[in-house]
Amino acid sequence: MNPFDILSRVERFVLGHSPTPLEHLRRLSEQLGGSRILVKRDDCTGLALGGNKVRKLEYLIADALARGASTVITVGGVQSNHARQTAAAAARAGLKCELVLARLVEHRGSHYERTGNVLLDRLFGARVHLVDDAKAVARKIEELMRDTESRGERPVFFPAGGSTPLGCLGYVRAARELLAQARDAGERVDHIVVAASTGGTAAGIHVGLRLASAPCELAAICVSGAAREERQSILRLSGEITGLLGVAPVDDSLLAVRDEFVGPGYGLPTDAMIEAVTLCARLEGLLLDPVYTGKAMAGLIALVRGGAIRADETVVFWHTGGTPALFAYDDELRNTVT
Ligand SMILES: *Cc1c(COP(=O)(O)O)cnc(C)c1O
Repeated sequence: MNPFDILSRVERFVLGHSPTPLEHLRRLSEQLGGSRILVKRDDCTGLALGGNKVRKLEYLIADALARGASTVITVGGVQSNHARQTAAAAARAGLKCELVLARLVEHRGSHYERTGNVLLDRLFGARVHLVDDAKAVARKIEELMRDTESRGERPVFFPAGGSTPLGCLGYVRAARELLAQARDAGERVDHIVVAASTGGTAAGIHVGLRLASAPCELAAICVSGAAREERQSILRLSGEITGLLGVAPVDDSLLAVRDEFVGPGYGLPTDAMIEAVTLCARLEGLLLDPVYTGKAMAGLIALVRGGAIRADETVVFWHTGGTPALFAYDDELRNTVT
């Protein structure tokens, strides 16, 4: 059976708007000297200000409901977009939500713990538990699982980024959506650039492209760790996804993982990120975010300027959302506003 037919049989709890738009960034393309730059607007997935986690959550929530869960427990950084989208998805599905948020980024003030995504988490009715480190995260999750069970309720745990093989199916499906959309619009897709953290989004897209035999290179831009580890995560998840679909592993020769745009670390600003956020805002009225898409777009800009993406090629920037975090970085961004 066609792998996409298998995929279409997996239960999905519809949360988002799809297909998301595919748009031409004309002024940015001109400014950078030629390569045709398109944007896949997964910042417009529709739920809770959008983002990539919505597509994963459609599968994760369907599974949680099928298992009779009452409460979703998940983890992330303080300004986690995944946590915000999970809180909204849980609300929509009538589930309770517990968020364990770790202080992963140093030297952020108290404003950072009140605004942006955290503000929205609380608005969606999630209980927010702020903790200091990975050990405390594990302890808190255990405690919440135990407490929920002791009340006779059924908890379900979603790992960071919703990156289980099941969740990643959202991006296998999305890759197919993009290819169909590009074909209908008469667009060639030579390259796709996407931000990568837990790697589930890149893995899903990677598998989707290869199952469709698309001659398209995928550049996964790291926003936290090193390329070696990120590549391992993406390939491990890719293997689990093809395993879940019952198809042969896919070839990885068109996958590039790059870590030269991370800067000093996860969630820490870089000049190239600020340039990317500012360029997109001023040339296209397009909002990026400081943690993920700003660094991924910095990568795309460098690849176009350096000629790795040629002037006669088309690149799709896969926008994964994250814009609520902009408000938690007001100091850095205010200083660039002239
Ligand atoms: C979570 C997130 C990513 C990274 O996705 P992974 O599947 O974890 O690699 C990228 N961009 C934004 C805005 C995100 O919130």
